[in-house]
Amino acid sequence: MIKVKKFCPYCGAPLVKKESEGRMRYYCNNEQRFIYENPLPAATSLVTDGDGRILLVYRDIQPGRFKWALPGGFIEVGESPVEAAKRELFEETAIEASHPTLIDVLHENSKFYHTSILIIGYHFSKFTGTPKAGDDAKDAAFFPLKKLPELAFDGHEELIKKYLKMSKK
Ligand SMILES: [Zn+2]
Repeated sequence: MIKVKKFCPYCGAPLVKKESEGRMRYYCNNEQRFIYENPLPAATSLVTDGDGRILLVYRDIQPGRFKWALPGGFIEVGESPVEAAKRELFEETAIEASHPTLIDVLHENSKFYHTSILIIGYHFSKFTGTPKAGDDAKDAAFFPLKKLPELAFDGHEELIKKYLKMSKK
């Protein structure tokens, strides 16, 4: 599943495979160090309106192109997960959200990214603005729970289920 890396991203020397801690890892002989591979962290936003409807975006890029999903994206270096969730939400929907609660942290293997994705899901209970699609989204709209379309990612369905469970308590 994971694409083969041939060269050290730091010095450009050819990489070899070497065992450490029970895993085969990439190793740079030139710098004598392991090149670790880790999941990619993404932040995802679940925004509900006063009627309990859920904000979704219609994706215009792969993975999941032409499918609905929760707004979200990868966390930039130096950015907190909540900041990333808010930034991606605003870029994709023009909605400014506040009052985050962590729903859960999930992980999902991604063929597209050749790694696993760590999905950090937040519920935002307050927001301002009207959904207007931008960036990677072709459309953005609130959906009633009973009329949710098929979602692009299993992890997003799981976050919605967990949120519903949380909100009933
Ligand atoms: Zn190197």
